[in-house]
Amino acid sequence: MQQDNPDITLITPSAPMHANTHGGRAKCLQRLVRLDLPVPTTVALSFDAVHRIAAGDLPDMQALLAPFDEDALVCVRPSSEDPDWGGPGAVLNIGMNDATYVDLADALGQDAAATLYMRFVQAYAVHVAKLDPDMFDDIEMAGQLGLSEALHAYEEEAEEPFPQDRGVQLGAVLRSMARAWEGTTARLLRQAKGAPADAGLGLVVQHMAIGLGQGECGSGVIQLVDPQTGLEQITGRYLSQSQGRDALTGEAALFLERDERGPSLEEAAPEAFADLKAHTALMRTRLREEMQAEFTIENGKVWLLDGVRVPRTARAAVRIAVRLADDGIIPREEALLRIDPRALNELLHRQVDPTAERDVLARGVAASPGAAHGAIVFSAAEAQASAARGEACILVRRETSPEDIRGMHAAVAVLTERGGMTSHAAVIGRGLGLPCVVGASEMRFQLRKKTLTAPDGRTFRQGDMITIDGTHGEVLAGQPALIEAAQDDAFQTLMNWADEFRDINIRANADTPADAATARSFGANGIGLCRTEHMFFEDDRLIVMREMIFADRPEDRRAALDRLLPMQRADFTELFRIMEGKPVCIRLLDPPLHEFLPHDRAGHRELAEALDLPLSDVTHRVEALQEYNPMLGMRGVRLGVTVPEIYDMQARAIFEATIEASRDGDPVVPEIMIPLVSAKREVEIVKNRVDSVAAAVYNETGAEFTYRLGVMVETPRACLRAGEIAPHAAFLSFGTNDLTQMTYGLSRDDAGRFMSAYVQRGVFPEDPFHTLDTDGVGELLQIGAERGRAARPDLILSICGEHGGSPESIGFCRKAGFNYVSCSPYRVPVAKLAAAQHAV
Ligand code: PEP
Ligand code: MG
Repeated sequence: MQQDNPDITLITPSAPMHANTHGGRAKCLQRLVRLDLPVPTTVALSFDAVHRIAAGDLPDMQALLAPFDEDALVCVRPSSEDPDWGGPGAVLNIGMNDATYVDLADALGQDAAATLYMRFVQAYAVHVAKLDPDMFDDIEMAGQLGLSEALHAYEEEAEEPFPQDRGVQLGAVLRSMARAWEGTTARLLRQAKGAPADAGLGLVVQHMAIGLGQGECGSGVIQLVDPQTGLEQITGRYLSQSQGRDALTGEAALFLERDERGPSLEEAAPEAFADLKAHTALMRTRLREEMQAEFTIENGKVWLLDGVRVPRTARAAVRIAVRLADDGIIPREEALLRIDPRALNELLHRQVDPTAERDVLARGVAASPGAAHGAIVFSAAEAQASAARGEACILVRRETSPEDIRGMHAAVAVLTERGGMTSHAAVIGRGLGLPCVVGASEMRFQLRKKTLTAPDGRTFRQGDMITIDGTHGEVLAGQPALIEAAQDDAFQTLMNWADEFRDINIRANADTPADAATARSFGANGIGLCRTEHMFFEDDRLIVMREMIFADRPEDRRAALDRLLPMQRADFTELFRIMEGKPVCIRLLDPPLHEFLPHDRAGHRELAEALDLPLSDVTHRVEALQEYNPMLGMRGVRLGVTVPEIYDMQARAIFEATIEASRDGDPVVPEIMIPLVSAKREVEIVKNRVDSVAAAVYNETGAEFTYRLGVMVETPRACLRAGEIAPHAAFLSFGTNDLTQMTYGLSRDDAGRFMSAYVQRGVFPEDPFHTLDTDGVGELLQIGAERGRAARPDLILSICGEHGGSPESIGFCRKAGFNYVSCSPYRVPVAKLAAAQHAV
């Protein structure tokens, strides 16, 4: 072997070697060699060398084996760029033949020597000669007799004697491993794990540390943390008289540390155990990562065969990163960068235990993370009844509407047939921290019959238990084990560091005191969107709201609004108090009025009774308010312009609440936001009225207060005309849910039906309701921001659509100079971490 040939090179501290030319294992072994750790002699073959071997061009075996003792056994292990991409299994004990068998029988004992030889014959037969694995079924694989039977069986099947030359054996092993990597199945498997189509394989040829023989011999893995929690704890497995992966699969493995539950390596071989601990600790500090070491003990001496990152849950990842930074091994910035922001969801919500068995009934859109089990109910009323009995239930609906909110509060999870990332169920689910799967249209929802049928024909009835996994968008049968949320001290520390580094504010979308309290507990910088319509769906308010809608004369309407006023005032006062002076942005009523009316005949009748009106009046009014396309109809500011008394009442409630909350707490500067604007004149009209309400409240109370009036930019026209809108607005907040809907001309409630097909076929790179379409919608945001700021340099810019919580969108907003993003309260930690990662 030539020292200067980087394709086939002895691993030394200075050999040219990279993970992207020789693979992760080769690179890691070099790092261990540099640390002077006991690594057996190893030769690394580069991706190119292995590729040539697969094509039939074998290197000179004699040269390759030159660094190894003449009679030493060697093994070949895969070294792909990313260990997660897998690779062909290692082949051990290469070099076993009749002569080494005799030598090793003297040195290690006959049984050990026979086992080594037999194992090699078996591995060679199956993986290299591609013989039928069953050929060894009837052979007792132990002792000398077993060995001669195994050799005989090989000779029979292969029609040639077992090869005796170590170079020949090694060449054949290298060729079979190189070809296995290039096979179609292996390629598809690794591509599914994220490997590129042309990912290369490196191989390492390593001196065999034999885990069998005299004295303490064996193999295992060790790590210094618990991979579930990340807490300091020596974990791993060790099996005496074993090699390779025996300890991982073998039942008789020992504990590593002294343990009252059974025998341990610490007792069996205290020195080897102490060495292992020290080696792993050194790897931790010098490789700057919590490592799992694969080792072999040979007559009491420790050899390190490999080191990989400790596999870990998200909660362990957080604790490990924080501890590495606390110990001064990595800077805090790097600790922040090491955590995938989305993985924080695992700490914020209950999850299905990753080790539990999953019986997946169907898949849908993963609309709100977390998992819960409960009994199926098919209506909001049943959900409330179930909650009143103290029984956990899952609300199953075709889609949800504002009427279902109370049912959603009562349920532990929600499942809908229709909808996408910004449908009602998804938005409310995320707001409540409620696991939610929407758009599960591969299931059959028969709401009248109260059944739910999986694609495989299994039918579930009201009361049957299922599990919703909103993190993965799956409906599961039965009740797999769940693991609890873990907002522990390590999580808190990471959040504090994120706060130190990030340079964009994170607010929360919060409609209720409970949402606001959650937002506060996660340290949100304020409320970026309070959707006031949600406040009108409480029982006592809904009926007054309906009275207001049915009022024919202005004085009747005013009377109804006068009754709503104190309710709204109390809502806002509470929100202001909870937020303790932090900004609260309240959006004036947005949805079309018919959303507040019942949708079926029974509901109409009930309403007729409550309002003491003929049923036909109610039906007519409901029909009169129906629109062909309510999303583009009389909603938002259009309602404010045509029925201005509603906004007047809301403005008054906001100002009176401001005075009240400021009296006994931090001074409040409310923000009032006008939804669905498309023309400057809309803003002027609403602003005039809001200003005059403010003047009236001031005249009545004598109390001074200030407020900011802003515009929600949700239509392409508002983006284009931002220059003339901005002079009337202290802030522009981009509602990217509607803006995405209107830019694509794509209904946010119906997109779920074909979105997965669109993404799979590459029409859209991702669901634009989920990840901001920076090309199209993003260009509109940029135009809006630039034109707005040009007209008014102190303009505050933000987004408050669901994209506010998406890590990529946060990067976009930061670059575009936005002041804050606003997202569901439970996404605040995710957004904070993502913002910090963009800033460091
Ligand atoms: C939006 O459209 O982005 C928005 C935040 O408003 P809503 O989702 O209530 O329509
Ligand atoms: Mg909107």
